[in-house]
Amino acid sequence: MRPRLHFVVDPMGWLCVGLVCGVWLYNTFLVPQLVLLPHYQEGHIPWAMVACYYVASALCVAALFRASTADPGHLAVDPHIPHSEREHWELCSKCNLMRPKRSHHCSRCGHCVRRMDHHCPWINNCVGEDNHWLFLQLCFYTQVLSLFTLVLDFCQYYYFQPLTSLNQEEFTTRHELALLRLSALSGLVMFGGMSSLFYTQMTGILSVSTKLSDRHHRPWQWMLAEVCGTRWKLLWFIPFRSRQPLQASQHLRTHV
Ligand SMILES: [Zn+2]
Ligand SMILES: [Zn+2]
Repeated sequence: MRPRLHFVVDPMGWLCVGLVCGVWLYNTFLVPQLVLLPHYQEGHIPWAMVACYYVASALCVAALFRASTADPGHLAVDPHIPHSEREHWELCSKCNLMRPKRSHHCSRCGHCVRRMDHHCPWINNCVGEDNHWLFLQLCFYTQVLSLFTLVLDFCQYYYFQPLTSLNQEEFTTRHELALLRLSALSGLVMFGGMSSLFYTQMTGILSVSTKLSDRHHRPWQWMLAEVCGTRWKLLWFIPFRSRQPLQASQHLRTHV
């Protein structure tokens, strides 16, 4: 089944996504030009480091694209509700559709979202049942990329040998220090923000495991497998796939 693209019409959200893309572009094109590629060409760093940087960057933008354009969890028009689960469903007065109780109506998106966590302007989309795993990936890969960038900025300033074949007339050479400082500042902001967000999200998911009664108790791996839609841990890190819900019962699902 081909995943449908989901776009929210919200100029404020487009502005926020544009800003995030700007930071990504800066770090993906300028940092390699300023630090990685010149030092690789002079043999100061191995090619694997350059490759790792581009892989982290590609995974970061892939998670951003998928989290922004994935359906966060629309309601089914005519859902099949087992008799035993009727008490866990209610009617949304705005959509006029039956929804599981942890759903919320998002005024920005204009519809209900199953297990809605929040509406995130930075991805211009809701974070709900079907794209929460992509949002976690985005937080994770943004931390990886920004930490990588910070380490490179630090090494360029304090550790790497000076470059011998620099063109003094080039824009990046003349403004190297200012560009490095801007990169370090964006890296710090992104790393700090994303780390605290990622920590809050993970503790929110994992704390459910301790709140459930003994009969419904699940280990932390199960909680993450349920959010990511697969028990294969390697797939938790891959943004190019679709999520398959692991269990049908609404009231047993983890709180996001
Ligand atoms: Zn609704
Ligand atoms: Zn929304």
